[in-house]
Amino acid sequence: MKLIYINNHFVHKTEETVRLFFPMEKFEFEFFENTKSFKEKSNDEKDGDVFVFEIDNNKAVVSISINGRLHVNYEYFEGSSEAEYVICSLLYKNLVKITGKEQPWGMLTGIRPVALIQNCFDNNPMYTFNEANFIMDETYNEASGILREKYYVSREKFGLALSVAKAQAAIIEKAKGISIYISIPFCPSRCDYCSFISSSIDNAFKLIPEYVDLLCRELDFASERYKGKIDTVYIGGGTPTTLSPEQLDKLLKSVRKFNITKATEFTVECGRPDTITKEKLDVLKNYYVNRISINPQTFNQEALDAIGRKHTVGDIYKAYELAKDKFIINMDLIAGLPTDTAESFEHSIDECLKLQPDNITIHTLCLKRGAKMYSEQLPKVYEDMLCISNKKLYWGNYVRAYDPYYLYRQKNALGNLENVGYARDGQFCRYNIYTMSECQTVIAFGAGAITKIVNGTKIDRSANYKYPFEYIDNFNTVIERKLFCFEHL
Ligand code: SF4
Repeated sequence: MKLIYINNHFVHKTEETVRLFFPMEKFEFEFFENTKSFKEKSNDEKDGDVFVFEIDNNKAVVSISINGRLHVNYEYFEGSSEAEYVICSLLYKNLVKITGKEQPWGMLTGIRPVALIQNCFDNNPMYTFNEANFIMDETYNEASGILREKYYVSREKFGLALSVAKAQAAIIEKAKGISIYISIPFCPSRCDYCSFISSSIDNAFKLIPEYVDLLCRELDFASERYKGKIDTVYIGGGTPTTLSPEQLDKLLKSVRKFNITKATEFTVECGRPDTITKEKLDVLKNYYVNRISINPQTFNQEALDAIGRKHTVGDIYKAYELAKDKFIINMDLIAGLPTDTAESFEHSIDECLKLQPDNITIHTLCLKRGAKMYSEQLPKVYEDMLCISNKKLYWGNYVRAYDPYYLYRQKNALGNLENVGYARDGQFCRYNIYTMSECQTVIAFGAGAITKIVNGTKIDRSANYKYPFEYIDNFNTVIERKLFCFEHL
């Protein structure tokens, strides 16, 4: 497909909007200063599907030539700041007509829908909730105006985003202190769909002892400074329980130097069930870890095999049995895995519900560059899968519903769909809310980790080296970058 720009360079947003409808297409780009130069060049080039985006004074024109048919639309705008939105909106509306398909999240691409609603809450502090904790009309109308009318978000997704924003409001308001993120970018093997910077043990086993030593030094260096100020700790991966019990013990000793207490939310994303042992869980418990994640992704063995995830369904039950009643447990499932059907996905939800974890997170499969899997192998029913999960977890559980409390969207997710964290009995993971809403400072440790220092609406970032070998080789710089944090906080 060819994307042509006359008198504008709104490439990023227009490309993303076209990609909502044609995710697998490759694009070529051309730019012209004015209509005359475009016409001179394009007289003899009529082949293929072409999108032309033109700004002519205060008029936006979108011409789409697709399957040999030409569709032209235009609209006037007032200020130049509106031009990009008007072009994308014309493009979106036209593509809905041409393809007959509306997008669940409308033309929202990179923008976080919950953040848009939170802005409306901030705009109307007096009118956000009434005494019964219902969202007041003024706020609701403003949020609806933005998501439904401006960005064409479906009624269902708007409702979901609204529920999430409401669940988060009180937690964001009470956010205090800082959070710590610790990265363990190692896994026992690599799953086919994954593009996370995780090193498989086969390749990187030798690096783990040195990595853990240096990670502890990085933590020790910062612990004096931030002692007693920690609200939440999150150890993520990769698969943190790739570490041996001794390595976990060493790491958690360093975390304890921040004065972690029983009141601190302390999460370890164990992840792969086949890495979880009683010994490791005992170590976590000794250091006040109170939340863990055991991630089945699916209870369909065929799908587990198809994604190259080297554990069995039986391993999930074993890991859960070891951890239950000792931690607040989250379980991740993925919609859209190869060989999965709507029925087998529903079976995964049912199995998860039988175990009754406190949190369930439903991800939409996201294929990034670097993942081994190909889109042709995937089921086409991922939208139905998300409907099933929302219905079963939220609407179908009147007595102890799982409330949606955090939501985010990733680039290249199937159908541009979302990931949603559900929790019952108010067992929300505060760290997840803070990072999504960027309302609290996160000091990050380890390879690939990014520190974000939040100061009102200003956020200063400092990234560590991406890969474990870089982190190890450049450890002096890692420590110098911690000094950057000290300067800002
Ligand atoms: S366990 Fe998670 S991080 Fe590790 S390879 Fe699999 S999907 Fe990627």
